[in-house]
Amino acid sequence: MNSNVSARATLPTRLRNFIDGEFVDSDHTFANHSPIDGRELSRVVETDAEAVNAAVEAAQRAQQGPWRRLSPVQRADWLHRIADGIEARFEDFVAAEVADTGRPIEQARRLDVARGIANFRTFADLVRTAHGEFFETSTADGEMLNYVTRKPLGVVGVISPWNLPLLLFTWKVAPALAMGNCVVAKPSEETPTSATLLAEVMRDIGLPPGVFNLIHGHGSNAAGEWLTRHPDIDAITFTGESKTGSAIMKAVADGVKNVSFELGGKNAAVVFADADFDAAVEGVLRSSFTNAGQVCLCSERVYVERPIFDRFVAALKEKTETLKVGSPYEAGTTTGPMISNGHRDKVLSYFQLAVKEGATVITGGGIPKFDNECDNGAFVQPTIWTGLPDDARCVTEEIFGPVCHIAPFDSEDEVVLRVNDSAYGLAASIWTTNLSRAHRVAPQIATGIVWVNAWFVRDLRTPFGGAKLSGFGREGGRHSMDFYSELTNICVKVA
Ligand code: NAD
Repeated sequence: MNSNVSARATLPTRLRNFIDGEFVDSDHTFANHSPIDGRELSRVVETDAEAVNAAVEAAQRAQQGPWRRLSPVQRADWLHRIADGIEARFEDFVAAEVADTGRPIEQARRLDVARGIANFRTFADLVRTAHGEFFETSTADGEMLNYVTRKPLGVVGVISPWNLPLLLFTWKVAPALAMGNCVVAKPSEETPTSATLLAEVMRDIGLPPGVFNLIHGHGSNAAGEWLTRHPDIDAITFTGESKTGSAIMKAVADGVKNVSFELGGKNAAVVFADADFDAAVEGVLRSSFTNAGQVCLCSERVYVERPIFDRFVAALKEKTETLKVGSPYEAGTTTGPMISNGHRDKVLSYFQLAVKEGATVITGGGIPKFDNECDNGAFVQPTIWTGLPDDARCVTEEIFGPVCHIAPFDSEDEVVLRVNDSAYGLAASIWTTNLSRAHRVAPQIATGIVWVNAWFVRDLRTPFGGAKLSGFGREGGRHSMDFYSELTNICVKVA
């Protein structure tokens, strides 16, 4: 067993809201269960409408106070203090992510918590070094100077999913605070722990009350929806399923609120015959099975050029069968559980559907057997299919599990059409050693990001987001600064 298991003992077992600088309890709670073995990890406050109001009022008050008038450098200092606070409790955050999601400890360290810290540092540096725009204009009435100021939007509602809890929560909270907004944030009901630790950090560093407020609870007809409908929320930034995005869009329509949506995907990986074969197999293994396929960027559709198709399928099968599924607390585990039994059942229903739709199951397709407490967990086997038509539901719908379908293709034009024939448009990866082909194909793919001979490389200064059902708006770098601020052009007659 891994020596860091003991870190689990430090996690809170009652997760409360954090409103106006104080932790607030409630009689209404729900259970947070471990996806690893099904046991209850904690009781979590189910926020009622009154508490949503209290959080929004606290944020509005803080927004009218000194926070709004801090200089960018002062705000950057606060963001670095938050990052320092996470760093000081690094292993607690790792333990929280592992307990709530069951992901491998090394992933939680290297990706989730490291990115949580990086999100605050990156936006601190961006806001500190941001420069403005100005224009000199000659008119018949004289000489004008235009300059552009950025003001906070006000109070931003942050709603985040369970698949990369701290990473995605802080990806929104950090730029919102960096631009001078106050925040009311709701993490997923499946993964409430790391957000609670973040609230503890905010309290411990003395962030002014009301600047950051945390509310726990569910989405539809609950805290999430009430937050989106609240008239004093000035913008909503949301990551999650496309159908939830659609519900939120309807909820915010009356208030004409700003929204930024990072939604689902059905991403493709394209492997040309001229690819570095081993690198492509390794790359697709990662892009299909990282975090048990529960990354919005994972590739569930793999297209392989026909001359190498059989060899590729055999090689990916061999690698996939070396993945070690099980408890993250056991050494060598590469693949944890689905987030919940409910999600596992959804993934399993696709396993059954694929067979009905005529798939050949190359590997997996069921539930692994452990003969230990993990048999009560939400595990499924990493799975590969071939033989489905492009319009099969398993090839068109987001499954969000450790699964990919591999199909052969014959030409560049054909594969571009097939990749783009999707309701989603989040990400794609292309594997080729032909530089001209890479530059020719990548811009034709209708997604927000295209990787060439890589996957899930994120420079936080670059725009991130999707097309079609995968959302709209871009965050990252100056794109986040644009979303989280209101621009005013000031035009002064100088002569
Ligand atoms: P989800 O949409 O079910 O839930 C996300 C959040 O929205 C949760 O906090 C939930 O409580 C809340 N919510 C649910 N219904 C709501 C409503 N009516 N009003 C307000 N809030 C509501 O998504 P999930 O299952 O937690 O996450 C998985 C999904 O997220 C997948 O589709 C995945 O592709 C997507 N995702 C996208 C990105 C991206 O960057 N594009 C990143 C990660 C995950």
